[in-house]
Amino acid sequence: TAGRSDRAGAAAIEIRRVRKVFGSGQERAVVALDDVSLTIRDNEFFTLLGPSGCGKTTLLRLIAGFEQPTAGEILLFGSHLEHLPPHRRPVNTVFQQYALFPHMTVAENIGFGLMMQGRPKREIDETVRRMLALVRMDDLAGRRTDQLSGGQQQRVALARALAPHPKVLLLDEPLSALDLKLRKEMQIELKRLQHETGITFIFVTHDQEEALTMSDRIAVMSDGAILQVGTPREIYDHPARRFVADFIGEINILPAELLETREASGGASARVRLSSGQVRLARLPDGPVAAGRVNVAVRPEHAGLQPAGEGAALTGTLSNVVYFGTGTHYHLELDGPGGEGGRFVVELQNRLGAGADHAIGARLGILLTDGSLQVL
Ligand code: ATP
Repeated sequence: TAGRSDRAGAAAIEIRRVRKVFGSGQERAVVALDDVSLTIRDNEFFTLLGPSGCGKTTLLRLIAGFEQPTAGEILLFGSHLEHLPPHRRPVNTVFQQYALFPHMTVAENIGFGLMMQGRPKREIDETVRRMLALVRMDDLAGRRTDQLSGGQQQRVALARALAPHPKVLLLDEPLSALDLKLRKEMQIELKRLQHETGITFIFVTHDQEEALTMSDRIAVMSDGAILQVGTPREIYDHPARRFVADFIGEINILPAELLETREASGGASARVRLSSGQVRLARLPDGPVAAGRVNVAVRPEHAGLQPAGEGAALTGTLSNVVYFGTGTHYHLELDGPGGEGGRFVVELQNRLGAGADHAIGARLGILLTDGSLQVL
């Protein structure tokens, strides 16, 4: 990982106003990407996250060179890519279907790309040996790949893609064929591989938990556009848009009235009046927000319970209690015109030996501290 720190922060990939339209004619044309701009830094574990059909794979295929943009530019370490065919780009891809050669051994699979490049045998052997150690497959070098488990095949596919030492590794939902336990293991494994090799990883997934666990930064996509780019914490704690808030984790959305905004060192905030008349401080997203009616979002674990009345942010009736081991979800039906469908969920951590729970039908207040609210 030499040179890691001095290279960190440089742009690995710049996507400038890229547009991709499939098909032609008014009716058949599909706008897969619409004016997308994005900078991915060197050494970054970067994730493209979004629902099926939002354009993630298309963006990856443009970077790999399997598709050409309809408009816009893609730069790799400052150089234009448009005229370089896929095999000439310092980029490699790991697909969902790993497509290993079943009749070849693990070592032959890993060395295949290097052999095709005509590298000397000594160099190939040395690289294969390093790659086997990297993915912890030293013991299985001579095994045919059709005699491996799914997780082992995934490791071989990764080693094969890393062997030519690409500057950027593209990963298109590489873990989706694995069962949950193996998938969790490989998430940690992939993160380690990225860290040890210092190669920029661009990872595609529609699984928000996977994205939060693995990424340095995430771009949330919807309908051919990028809605927000940020660290997992920024995206989770401060979703800038309604779609991002809904797509990642559970969240309560409340109607509110925006009273006045103020600038502070931690970002802009605003006083908002909730439907109960109570006023709280809420964080504002970047960019302009119109005064008046807005939505505010609150994560269930950022809210609390308190006695009804007495300055509670909102009040309601307990309708359901869902215990899930580490915590409990309290579902409330709000008084008056509250949140979406009048429901609100509070998540409290479970403590060992904690006392009696609230009974269904209990009247409770919702505790919302300044800063737990986010204007959308
Ligand atoms: P998934 O998670 O399902 O793979 P995605 O986010 O990767 O989805 P893309 O595969 O990039 O989405 O597709 C974006 C849009 O472009 C979709 O509407 C898709 O149907 C369309 N599309 C993709 N490839 C082509 C193609 N070769 N011809 C026509 N339309 C295409």
